[in-house]
Amino acid sequence: MKLVRTVDEMAQVALSHKVGLVPTMGAFHEGHLSLFRAARAECATVVVSLFVNPAQFGANEDLARYPRDEERDARLAEDAGVDVLFTPSAEQMYPEGFATWVDVAATGGEAVARPGHFRGVATVCLKLFNLVRADVAYFGQKDAQQAAVLRRMVRDLNVPVDLRVLPTVRDEDGLALSSRNAYLSPEEREQALALPRALETGRSAADPVAAARAALNGLDPDYVEVIDVGDARVLAAAARVGSTRLIDNVVLEGELR
Ligand code: AMP
Repeated sequence: MKLVRTVDEMAQVALSHKVGLVPTMGAFHEGHLSLFRAARAECATVVVSLFVNPAQFGANEDLARYPRDEERDARLAEDAGVDVLFTPSAEQMYPEGFATWVDVAATGGEAVARPGHFRGVATVCLKLFNLVRADVAYFGQKDAQQAAVLRRMVRDLNVPVDLRVLPTVRDEDGLALSSRNAYLSPEEREQALALPRALETGRSAADPVAAARAALNGLDPDYVEVIDVGDARVLAAAARVGSTRLIDNVVLEGELR
């Protein structure tokens, strides 16, 4: 029997019944692993979902070529202490007759650049929260707008899940880790560095958007915007490097939690 003498420890014991969920699309990197570890530290059971969600891809996007390596992912998840890797098929998630969508009103950034994207994200995440009966779900700051959309959904629909947003994990040179970095040639990988550098330049400038735009070094931006993500304002950008679309952001004000 465990003898508990402090209120802090008691809170931890209550926590130990928690189910933590990390929704992902696979091709794991340190960004994913940082979320797995956070879940491991806080939850009794850690579930990682690996589902390349067709509903969040536009018609001309990279659904077909999205990197997939389930065996490697399973190994990495197991090594990070994940209890369950949940890999449903598209047919199970969207069976014939599927007709219910969660449409969170969102403006700017990805909401405009990828119409329907957040509808796909919100719908699949609500399904995953329900399927896993998650108490806590973990997300990365790299997709700050996504986290804000999900927070809005959780509030608006009274979804009984706590959301946590963890810092963006970057390579040593500053490029945010992303499964899509695998598409980049060595030259493109070098060019892509202009994205985090431009955001860093913008962060301390009087006009962050103008400064970041000017520092993109020839990258073709979908947008460079200051976006309100609830508890924080971020300077966010999406840009194309060859045929690869990358997104990134830095916090200007407030804190993402
Ligand atoms: P994805 O598999 O790309 O859909 O990402 C799954 C989760 O990992 C999302 O919550 C992302 O925000 C998060 N994530 C992706 N890249 C990073 C990163 N570099 N650092 C921290 N979290 C990340």
